[in-house]
Amino acid sequence: MKRMAKCVVCGGYTMKAAHCGKKPKMAHPPPYNPNDRYAKYRRAAGGIL
Ligand SMILES: [Zn+2]
Repeated sequence: MKRMAKCVVCGGYTMKAAHCGKKPKMAHPPPYNPNDRYAKYRRAAGGIL
């Protein structure tokens, strides 16, 4: 897995050394998808999204 960095200017993720003329901040991938806890309820309700 490649290291992702988050651009401090536009908020986008990049693997480059610079983005928007600034050095991006190292970002750790979230330990879990925060949407998962809601996806469980969405599935229970019969919805896809
Ligand atoms: Zn940027």
